[in-house]
Amino acid sequence: MSAYIHKDDRFEQTAPPVRECPHCGAHAQMLPVSTPKFKTLTETAPSHVALGFQCSACGEPRFGKALVRSISADRVELSGGVVEIERPKERFAFTYLPVEVRELFNEALECYSGDLHNAFASMCRRTVAASIVHLPEPGQSRWKNAFAEIIQIGEIDDATAATFKHVLFDSSASMPKIDAGQSAVLLEIMKDVLYQCHVRAAKFRAAMKMRRLFADEQPSKVTSLRRARGETSA
Ligand SMILES: [Zn+2]
Repeated sequence: MSAYIHKDDRFEQTAPPVRECPHCGAHAQMLPVSTPKFKTLTETAPSHVALGFQCSACGEPRFGKALVRSISADRVELSGGVVEIERPKERFAFTYLPVEVRELFNEALECYSGDLHNAFASMCRRTVAASIVHLPEPGQSRWKNAFAEIIQIGEIDDATAATFKHVLFDSSASMPKIDAGQSAVLLEIMKDVLYQCHVRAAKFRAAMKMRRLFADEQPSKVTSLRRARGETSA
Protein backbone atom coordinates (compact mmCIF):
# COMPACT_ATOMS: atom_id res chain seq x y z
CA MET A 1 0.00 0.00 0.00
CA SER A 2 1.33 3.41 -0.98
CA ALA A 3 0.48 7.07 -0.67
CA TYR A 4 1.24 9.78 -3.21
CA ILE A 5 1.85 13.50 -3.31
CA HIS A 6 0.99 14.69 -6.81
CA LYS A 7 2.43 17.60 -8.78
CA ASP A 8 -0.54 19.79 -7.75
CA ASP A 9 0.20 18.95 -4.02
CA ARG A 10 -2.83 16.63 -3.85
CA PHE A 11 -2.34 13.84 -1.29
CA GLU A 12 -3.66 10.46 -2.36
CA GLN A 13 -4.05 7.47 -0.15
CA THR A 14 -6.00 4.29 -0.86
CA ALA A 15 -7.57 4.39 2.61
CA PRO A 16 -6.83 6.53 5.69
CA PRO A 17 -4.94 4.45 8.30
CA VAL A 18 -7.03 3.27 11.26
CA ARG A 19 -5.14 3.22 14.56
CA GLU A 20 -5.79 3.57 18.28
CA CYS A 21 -5.85 7.30 19.05
CA PRO A 22 -3.40 8.42 21.80
CA HIS A 23 -5.92 11.11 22.84
CA CYS A 24 -9.37 9.43 22.90
CA GLY A 25 -8.41 5.73 22.74
CA ALA A 26 -10.81 5.04 19.82
CA HIS A 27 -9.73 2.92 16.86
CA ALA A 28 -10.29 5.80 14.46
CA GLN A 29 -9.26 6.93 11.01
CA MET A 30 -6.31 9.32 10.70
CA LEU A 31 -7.52 11.97 8.26
CA PRO A 32 -4.71 13.82 6.41
CA VAL A 33 -4.73 17.57 7.11
CA SER A 34 -1.11 18.62 6.53
CA THR A 35 1.11 17.07 3.87
CA PRO A 36 4.38 18.27 2.27
CA LYS A 37 4.50 20.34 -0.92
CA PHE A 38 5.56 18.50 -4.09
CA LYS A 39 8.08 21.24 -5.01
CA THR A 40 9.80 21.06 -1.60
CA LEU A 41 10.12 17.27 -1.88
CA THR A 42 11.60 17.36 -5.38
CA GLU A 43 14.08 20.05 -4.30
CA THR A 44 15.22 18.45 -1.05
CA ALA A 45 14.64 14.73 -1.81
CA PRO A 46 14.32 13.67 1.84
CA SER A 47 14.34 9.99 2.88
CA HIS A 48 11.31 10.50 5.15
CA VAL A 49 8.48 13.05 5.33
CA ALA A 50 6.33 14.32 8.19
CA LEU A 51 2.56 14.09 7.85
CA GLY A 52 -0.17 15.77 9.92
CA PHE A 53 -3.45 13.96 10.53
CA GLN A 54 -6.62 14.55 12.51
CA CYS A 55 -8.39 11.87 14.56
CA SER A 56 -11.81 11.21 12.97
CA ALA A 57 -13.27 10.48 16.43
CA CYS A 58 -12.03 13.34 18.63
CA GLY A 59 -10.49 15.80 16.13
CA GLU A 60 -7.15 15.97 17.96
CA PRO A 61 -3.96 16.22 15.86
CA ARG A 62 -1.94 13.08 15.17
CA PHE A 63 1.54 13.09 13.69
CA GLY A 64 3.30 10.55 11.54
CA LYS A 65 6.24 10.00 9.26
CA ALA A 66 6.51 7.98 6.08
CA LEU A 67 9.33 6.68 3.91
CA VAL A 68 9.84 8.32 0.51
CA ARG A 69 9.90 5.46 -2.02
CA SER A 70 10.44 7.37 -5.23
CA ILE A 71 10.34 10.86 -6.71
CA SER A 72 9.27 11.30 -10.33
CA ALA A 73 8.34 14.29 -12.48
CA ASP A 74 4.62 13.84 -11.68
CA ARG A 75 4.40 12.50 -8.17
CA VAL A 76 6.22 11.42 -5.02
CA GLU A 77 5.47 7.93 -3.81
CA LEU A 78 5.42 7.35 -0.04
CA SER A 79 5.26 4.15 1.90
CA GLY A 80 1.67 3.59 3.11
CA GLY A 81 2.92 2.36 6.49
CA VAL A 82 2.83 5.61 8.45
CA VAL A 83 4.83 5.52 11.69
CA GLU A 84 2.96 7.47 14.34
CA ILE A 85 5.12 9.80 16.45
CA GLU A 86 2.75 10.03 19.42
CA ARG A 87 1.60 6.56 20.31
CA PRO A 88 -1.18 5.49 22.71
CA LYS A 89 0.09 5.38 26.25
CA GLU A 90 -0.31 2.36 28.45
CA ARG A 91 -3.12 2.92 30.94
CA PHE A 92 -3.34 2.15 34.63
CA ALA A 93 -5.71 3.07 37.52
CA PHE A 94 -3.22 5.63 38.88
CA THR A 95 -5.78 7.15 41.27
CA TYR A 96 -5.24 4.35 43.75
CA LEU A 97 -1.45 4.56 43.87
CA PRO A 98 0.45 6.63 46.48
CA VAL A 99 1.62 9.90 44.83
CA GLU A 100 5.31 8.92 44.70
CA VAL A 101 4.53 5.50 43.20
CA ARG A 102 2.14 7.11 40.72
CA GLU A 103 4.77 9.58 39.50
CA LEU A 104 7.46 6.91 39.08
CA PHE A 105 5.22 4.36 37.38
CA ASN A 106 3.80 7.03 35.09
CA GLU A 107 7.36 7.77 33.96
CA ALA A 108 7.99 4.03 33.55
CA LEU A 109 4.97 3.85 31.21
CA GLU A 110 6.25 6.88 29.27
CA CYS A 111 9.54 4.98 28.73
CA TYR A 112 7.66 1.84 27.68
CA SER A 113 5.46 3.73 25.21
CA GLY A 114 8.61 5.31 23.74
CA ASP A 115 10.29 1.90 23.25
CA LEU A 116 12.96 2.81 25.85
CA HIS A 117 13.01 -0.66 27.35
CA ASN A 118 16.08 -0.37 29.59
CA ALA A 119 14.91 3.01 30.91
CA PHE A 120 11.55 1.32 31.55
CA ALA A 121 13.28 -1.46 33.54
CA SER A 122 15.16 1.12 35.65
CA MET A 123 11.96 3.02 36.39
CA CYS A 124 10.26 -0.27 37.35
CA ARG A 125 12.99 -0.84 39.97
CA ARG A 126 12.41 2.65 41.39
CA THR A 127 8.62 2.11 41.34
CA VAL A 128 8.96 -1.15 43.27
CA ALA A 129 11.26 0.48 45.88
CA ALA A 130 8.75 3.33 46.39
CA SER A 131 5.80 0.94 46.46
CA ILE A 132 7.42 -1.19 49.20
CA VAL A 133 7.97 1.91 51.37
CA HIS A 134 4.27 2.79 51.09
CA LEU A 135 2.98 -0.70 51.92
CA PRO A 136 2.24 -1.82 55.46
CA GLU A 137 4.96 -4.04 56.98
CA PRO A 138 6.37 -6.25 55.57
CA GLY A 139 5.98 -4.57 52.17
CA GLN A 140 8.93 -6.33 50.59
CA SER A 141 7.58 -9.81 51.23
CA ARG A 142 4.16 -8.78 49.86
CA TRP A 143 5.84 -7.70 46.63
CA LYS A 144 8.01 -10.81 46.44
CA ASN A 145 5.06 -13.14 47.12
CA ALA A 146 2.86 -11.43 44.50
CA PHE A 147 5.79 -11.51 42.06
CA ALA A 148 6.40 -15.25 42.66
CA GLU A 149 2.69 -15.95 42.17
CA ILE A 150 2.46 -14.10 38.84
CA ILE A 151 5.65 -15.80 37.59
CA GLN A 152 3.98 -19.13 38.32
CA ILE A 153 0.63 -18.15 36.76
CA GLY A 154 2.38 -16.81 33.65
CA GLU A 155 4.56 -19.95 33.40
CA ILE A 156 7.59 -17.69 32.94
CA ASP A 157 10.84 -19.62 32.48
CA ASP A 158 13.49 -19.61 35.23
CA ALA A 159 16.06 -17.52 33.34
CA THR A 160 13.55 -14.75 32.53
CA ALA A 161 12.16 -14.84 36.08
CA ALA A 162 15.71 -14.46 37.45
CA THR A 163 16.31 -11.48 35.14
CA PHE A 164 13.08 -9.79 36.31
CA LYS A 165 13.96 -10.51 39.95
CA HIS A 166 17.35 -8.88 39.41
CA VAL A 167 15.69 -5.86 37.72
CA LEU A 168 13.04 -5.34 40.38
CA PHE A 169 14.61 -6.29 43.71
CA ASP A 170 18.41 -6.08 43.41
CA SER A 171 19.66 -2.97 45.17
CA SER A 172 23.14 -3.11 43.57
CA ALA A 173 24.06 -0.80 40.72
CA SER A 174 24.03 -3.59 38.14
CA MET A 175 21.02 -3.87 35.87
CA PRO A 176 20.51 -6.59 33.23
CA LYS A 177 19.60 -5.52 29.70
CA ILE A 178 15.96 -5.90 28.72
CA ASP A 179 14.64 -6.38 25.18
CA ALA A 180 11.21 -5.44 23.79
CA GLY A 181 9.69 -8.89 24.44
CA GLN A 182 10.90 -9.04 28.07
CA SER A 183 9.77 -5.47 28.57
CA ALA A 184 6.22 -6.38 27.48
CA VAL A 185 6.09 -9.23 30.03
CA LEU A 186 7.61 -7.03 32.75
CA LEU A 187 4.92 -4.43 32.08
CA GLU A 188 2.16 -6.98 32.73
CA ILE A 189 3.92 -8.14 35.93
CA MET A 190 4.21 -4.55 37.19
CA LYS A 191 0.55 -3.83 36.47
CA ASP A 192 -0.60 -7.01 38.17
CA VAL A 193 1.52 -6.64 41.32
CA LEU A 194 0.79 -2.91 41.71
CA TYR A 195 -2.89 -3.79 41.38
CA GLN A 196 -2.57 -6.52 44.03
CA CYS A 197 -0.60 -4.33 46.44
CA HIS A 198 -2.34 -0.97 46.12
CA VAL A 199 -5.41 -0.87 43.84
CA ARG A 200 -7.25 -3.97 45.05
CA ALA A 201 -7.11 -2.99 48.73
CA ALA A 202 -8.00 0.69 48.08
CA LYS A 203 -10.93 -0.25 45.82
CA PHE A 204 -12.21 -2.77 48.35
CA ARG A 205 -11.98 -0.26 51.23
CA ALA A 206 -13.78 2.41 49.13
CA ALA A 207 -16.56 -0.07 48.23
CA MET A 208 -16.96 -1.11 51.90
CA LYS A 209 -17.16 2.54 52.99
CA MET A 210 -19.89 3.23 50.41
CA ARG A 211 -21.85 0.14 51.47
CA ARG A 212 -21.69 1.15 55.14
CA LEU A 213 -22.70 4.72 54.33
CA PHE A 214 -25.62 3.46 52.26
CA ALA A 215 -26.69 0.98 54.95
CA ASP A 216 -26.59 3.69 57.68
CA GLU A 217 -28.85 5.98 55.62
CA GLN A 218 -31.52 3.30 55.12
CA PRO A 219 -34.29 2.86 57.76
CA SER A 220 -34.24 -0.64 59.17
CA LYS A 221 -36.22 -2.89 56.88
CA VAL A 222 -35.86 -5.87 59.19
CA THR A 223 -39.15 -6.71 60.85
CA SER A 224 -38.61 -8.01 64.31
CA LEU A 225 -40.06 -11.40 65.15
CA ARG A 226 -42.22 -9.82 67.83
CA ARG A 227 -43.70 -7.19 65.40
CA ALA A 228 -44.32 -9.89 62.83
CA ARG A 229 -46.34 -11.84 65.35
CA GLY A 230 -48.32 -8.72 66.32
CA GLU A 231 -47.04 -8.82 69.87
CA THR A 232 -46.52 -5.65 71.90
CA SER A 233 -43.89 -5.14 74.47
CA ALA A 234 -45.09 -5.33 78.04
ZN1 LIG B 1 -9.05 10.57 18.97
